[in-house]
Amino acid sequence: MAETGTGRRIPLVDLTWSHRQIHAEAMAAVSAVIEGQRFIHGPEVAAFEKAMAQRLDIEFALGVSSGTDALLMTLMALGIGPGDEVITTPFSFVATAEIIRRVGARPVFADVRPHSLCLNPEAVRRKMSPRTKLLLPVHLYGNICDMDALAALSLEREVNIVEDCAQSMGARRQGRAAGAFGVAGAFSFFPSKNLGAWGDGGLITTHRSDLAERLRQIRDHGAVAADRYDCLGGNFRLDTLQAAVLLVKLKYLDNWLQARQQAAKLYEQLFVAAGLASKDQDRPSAEFPVLLPWVEDESAHVFNLFVVQVQNRAALRAQLDQAGIDSRVYYSMPLHLQACFADLGYHAGDFPVAELAAKQVLALPLFPGIASQQQEQVVENIAAFYRPA
Ligand SMILES: *Cc1c(COP(=O)(O)O)cnc(C)c1O
Repeated sequence: MAETGTGRRIPLVDLTWSHRQIHAEAMAAVSAVIEGQRFIHGPEVAAFEKAMAQRLDIEFALGVSSGTDALLMTLMALGIGPGDEVITTPFSFVATAEIIRRVGARPVFADVRPHSLCLNPEAVRRKMSPRTKLLLPVHLYGNICDMDALAALSLEREVNIVEDCAQSMGARRQGRAAGAFGVAGAFSFFPSKNLGAWGDGGLITTHRSDLAERLRQIRDHGAVAADRYDCLGGNFRLDTLQAAVLLVKLKYLDNWLQARQQAAKLYEQLFVAAGLASKDQDRPSAEFPVLLPWVEDESAHVFNLFVVQVQNRAALRAQLDQAGIDSRVYYSMPLHLQACFADLGYHAGDFPVAELAAKQVLALPLFPGIASQQQEQVVENIAAFYRPA
């Protein structure tokens, strides 16, 4: 990668390498859409949906306008509304809880597990009430939640699960794709996600034909026939242009996921070799200041983000920045403390695991095509911070 080689800044995400591979083919696909003029509901949308359903081994896949809308529409289709409670994580992107509010339901937060930072099923159990209508786990950073425990809970209490898979396109647990566990899965094609569009886009997966049918209506203002509207919906469509680009990119997805996993493996090896991390630790410590991402044997983590947990984060970030290395924090404030959810009545101290994570998580540069030499530079600079000569 000439653009970001030695001597240049190391960005958190760089799409240059992957874009080069698809550029000519995607431009031709875009041209074909423009020639054909079917910008809405063009044939590429249906072709992409079919390819996605096959790829994930889930009966139905619907292209929609964004990951946020995928979540919103799913709650609308399930009839979640005022008086209902949806249990979710306080440690996610704001969209996860925002859409619960937008349908008039109440987000009920449950704390996460310290290492995986995914919903803690025991905490979820304690938050369940007769008003609980849905569990909304988030497969954070490209990992996948403890779906065995959550599925058992959902069966026992007869409460559906909708998976927020925005960061986990391609993740699997025991061979099963993220998005195949719950009643529905919501994906995002935001450009920096594992499968990114040339703009916004999203996908909903489901095994249930009645839900797929309802979602198809909601995607188009609740239309059931020409000028006939059964329920309230919206304009939640995926552009044909985006579908055409995504259809091309889908062919490369497996290679790009492998590249992410290889880069993650290299980071792990480098951190362990530098004496900064140990495979056995579960917290960052003086001895091992870098807690590596949580990876389980039964899960394929697809590393949309490579997130470590560290102490003294602000000073480390400042030193990395000086050395020309970008890093970012996902997320610096848990959702229960955000002003937009103040009316829910949560306080600091309610979710100690999420609150500590907000102080310790740090995303390091990782993208398909990152050079091993760039990764070495990142680790060397972190070593220089924690072990000054
Ligand atoms: C990106 C993201 C979303 C929203 O997706 P958009 O396509 O940007 O609307 C939702 N949840 C999580 C966890 C995300 O990372």
